[in-house]
Amino acid sequence: MALARVSPPAFSSPFLIHSLLRPFSSPSSVLRPRVTRVPHHRGFAIAAALSQASPLPSADGDGAVMEAPPRPSSRRPWKPTCLYYTQGKCTMLNDTLHLEKFNHNLSTDLPVNYSAADKVKSQKLDYFLVLDLEGKVEILEFPVVMIDAQSMEFVDSFHRFVHPTAMSEQRIREYIEGKYGKFGVDRVWHDTAIPFMEVLQEFEDWIEHHKFWKKEQGGALNSAAFITCGNWDLKTKVPEQCRVSKIKLPSYFMEWINLKDIYLNFYNRRATGMMTMMRELQMPIVGSHHLGIDDAKNIARVVQRMLADGAVMQITAKRQSATGDVKFLFKNRIR
Ligand SMILES: [Zn+2]
Repeated sequence: MALARVSPPAFSSPFLIHSLLRPFSSPSSVLRPRVTRVPHHRGFAIAAALSQASPLPSADGDGAVMEAPPRPSSRRPWKPTCLYYTQGKCTMLNDTLHLEKFNHNLSTDLPVNYSAADKVKSQKLDYFLVLDLEGKVEILEFPVVMIDAQSMEFVDSFHRFVHPTAMSEQRIREYIEGKYGKFGVDRVWHDTAIPFMEVLQEFEDWIEHHKFWKKEQGGALNSAAFITCGNWDLKTKVPEQCRVSKIKLPSYFMEWINLKDIYLNFYNRRATGMMTMMRELQMPIVGSHHLGIDDAKNIARVVQRMLADGAVMQITAKRQSATGDVKFLFKNRIR
C-alpha cells in the first residue's frame, strides 16, 4: 500500500501548474523537470512519465510554464486493467466489447523513455520486482510488476487477490465492499481471491520460472530485488501475515529496496509516499490510488523515471534471519 494522504495533482489550471512547479525553481534543485521531447519515430512513447490520460505540463529550469507538446493522435484513452486477466482467469479474450473496455497489456501503462536510455547507469541487479501490498488487517492483494533494470521495460507481472485466513466471512464481505467496492472490483476479488499460503506457492512458481530463485536452494533472489515504497510491506506486513497464516517467513523476503531511501539519496529530497514522488516528478497518477495493481504500476513508473534520470537501485534493508531485526544499509534514510 503506497501510503500517502495527498491528492493527485490537477493539471487543468495554469495557476495550479505554476504552484506545482514552484519547488523546482530553487537553483540547487536536481528535480528540474525536463522539457518533454516529441519523439522522432512514431510508435515510440514520449516518456515513461506520461500518462495515457492527462497532458503533462513542461517547464524550463526557471519554472516558467510552457505549453505541453501536442499529443500523438494514436494515443488511446486509458483503460482499467482486466483483473481477471492479471489472475490468469479472463475468459473473455474473444469478446470485442470486453477488450475495448479493459486493458490486457500492462506494458501500455509503462512505456519507456528511449531518449533517456544513455543516461541509465549500470545496475547491480538485472530485474526489479515492484511490490505494493494492500490490506491493513490481513493482506488482500499481492501485486508485483517486473521491470528490466537496464532497458527499463516492463517484463511481466504477478497479481493475486488474497483471501484472509483469520477473519469471519461476514467481516471479509464488509471489508472488501469498503475497500474495493468503490473501484468496482469487489466482484473480481470474491471470484479470484486465494489464501496467502497459496499465493506464495504460485509466486514461487513465478520466480522459479524467471530463474530468480530455486525452491531447493532457498536464499535471497538471484539478480533481482523487490522494490517497495517504504519498509512497511516487507518489514512489517509480510511477517505479520506469515504469523497469521502459520508459515515461516520465506527466504526471498529478507532484503529489499525502499524506493523512498533511493529517492532521498538521489534527488536529495524527502518523499513521504508515492503521491509526493509523482507530484514532485510531475507525473500524473494512472488508475486508482490504493488499488494495489495500479499503485504497483505507478511506483514502477517512478522507478522507470528514476532509472532514466540516472539513479542506481540497490538493497536498502536486510534481515539476517526469519525472526531477526532489519538492518538498514543507508545512513541517510526516511524514518
Ligand atoms: Zn479480460
